[in-house]
Amino acid sequence: MTKKSVIVHSLDKENNKATFASSSTGEIYETKLTSCTCMHNRRTGATCKHMMALSEIFGVEIEIRKSEKSAKKPKVEKPTVAIHRLDKESQTAEFISKNSGETIITTLSSCTCKGKNFKKICKHMEVLKEELNITY
Ligand SMILES: [Zn+2]
Ligand SMILES: [Zn+2]
Repeated sequence: MTKKSVIVHSLDKENNKATFASSSTGEIYETKLTSCTCMHNRRTGATCKHMMALSEIFGVEIEIRKSEKSAKKPKVEKPTVAIHRLDKESQTAEFISKNSGETIITTLSSCTCKGKNFKKICKHMEVLKEELNITY
């Protein structure tokens, strides 16, 4: 394995900045100790090889950031489903599936979105409970 090399294009020691030329595309990246214009850094916010090289050149320790995507835990999204019809008496609600346009029938113990044997609570049931002011 050969280390991926980065080519220093220009150095700005006063401002702790440098530009690097991509070895594959010849593109020029502007690199500071905290950011870089390369795709890797722009996309993920992670410390890229250019920033690593820059920290080496200047002999400055930098904080290595990993890709934000992998660092962040997936956010638990709030239910975004909207009730289509609500029958408070029978505690049943109807939802329209955003994906398929199908009608989903939800009661407090079942929901058609996951089949009859679905045991856990889905977003429809959560919304229904909220709507009926039921807390367990
Ligand atoms: Zn970079
Ligand atoms: Zn459901």
